[in-house]
Amino acid sequence: MARINNTARWRPVGAALSLLLLASTAARAALSVLAETPDWRELDVYQHTLTAAEFRARLPLYSNDGALARYLTFSDRGVEIFADQDKTRKLWELRWAAAPSAVPDFPPGPAADRDRPLAGLNICLDPGHIGGDWADMEERHFRIRGGPWVDEAALNFITCQWIEQGLRAAGAEVCWTRQLGVPATPRRPADFTSPAITLMWRQDANKAARQSPGNLRKLLQWYQELVFYRIAEIQARAATVRELRPDLTLCIHYNALGWSKRGPRLYSGVNRIVIFTHGSYLASELALDDMKFDLFRKLLEHAGGTERRVADAIAEQVVAVWQYPPERYRAGLAGVAPAGRTPYVWSRNLLANRLYPGPVVFVEGPFMDDALTYRRIIAGDYAGEREIAGRNYRSIYREYADIVVRGVLAAYQKTQHH
Ligand SMILES: [Zn+2]
Repeated sequence: MARINNTARWRPVGAALSLLLLASTAARAALSVLAETPDWRELDVYQHTLTAAEFRARLPLYSNDGALARYLTFSDRGVEIFADQDKTRKLWELRWAAAPSAVPDFPPGPAADRDRPLAGLNICLDPGHIGGDWADMEERHFRIRGGPWVDEAALNFITCQWIEQGLRAAGAEVCWTRQLGVPATPRRPADFTSPAITLMWRQDANKAARQSPGNLRKLLQWYQELVFYRIAEIQARAATVRELRPDLTLCIHYNALGWSKRGPRLYSGVNRIVIFTHGSYLASELALDDMKFDLFRKLLEHAGGTERRVADAIAEQVVAVWQYPPERYRAGLAGVAPAGRTPYVWSRNLLANRLYPGPVVFVEGPFMDDALTYRRIIAGDYAGEREIAGRNYRSIYREYADIVVRGVLAAYQKTQHH
């Protein structure tokens, strides 16, 4: 990776950067960083597919605080969506269907087959993060007091390999968004100077303004890396999912409580589980045109029912096997909302579940910095059971994978009984 390391050469660039920062606010398009101007005509395939009542029933999942309504004008004919709250720039109009569509919330599962209950389903696995040479940059890589390094991407990858085996055994086809340690995007942090300036300006303007040129360079580099692994990487994976058109995508992660400046440490009994479905756009996000487009695309493709069904079914397996409590969010916290029958399922607008087409279920597993989880992680992947802290445990990777596979099986088998 090309790092900027010539401070002397940087000084005049520092001044130019300040000018760029000013220019970027003046010319700021109402788009997310790296997003392209949406082509709303892509959504015309959904014309006349929903009644006004059906549209209104789906809306709260995506805009639970009602902020989207400020950009909408309803009529007998349809609903117009505007770029601005003054409604001077119309983006698109959805025309109502004459009669209810009766589209099921959860499409019928594949034909029941006792030995291969998932036959006919194509499931995409998205192990979180890149890992390998990129693990340190991603800040999902740590060691405790000289112990072995823990790289979340590697844990996600091993877990997904076992999920693949379980899903294939049940008859599903399985595809992947990426390989381990290899970015899906061909671009690199040095390619993202201009979007990194925009992002830094939007998120960190005050901090950026106070920095010495040397520190401003470091801060900008941090943002270039963030644009690379957080945005460009997910965009590249989204392109893969668009090509593969799976029936379901599973994003698999391990969680962490996080660490202070003094470095990582272990906690006791902190595991909590959260499973995300898509929704709960922030009012500030809805000011951006691409967010409004993505919201409409998600609402119209109607992935919410499948996401909720699969997320709840995985949560039931979490309860049965791990008994870890659900993640708790502060009441009224913007950007998340309860979205399932179980308290583990929350809707949230993540880049992955927004950009990947079709149903996406995002599982945040056990906490890597929980003392027992950490010991199970560094014990590696093994068959059978091993004694850890005075008790016998299976490999945490296989146990996590089984929870996910059994959840997917339960979600689709339920529909077969109906
Ligand atoms: Zn993660």
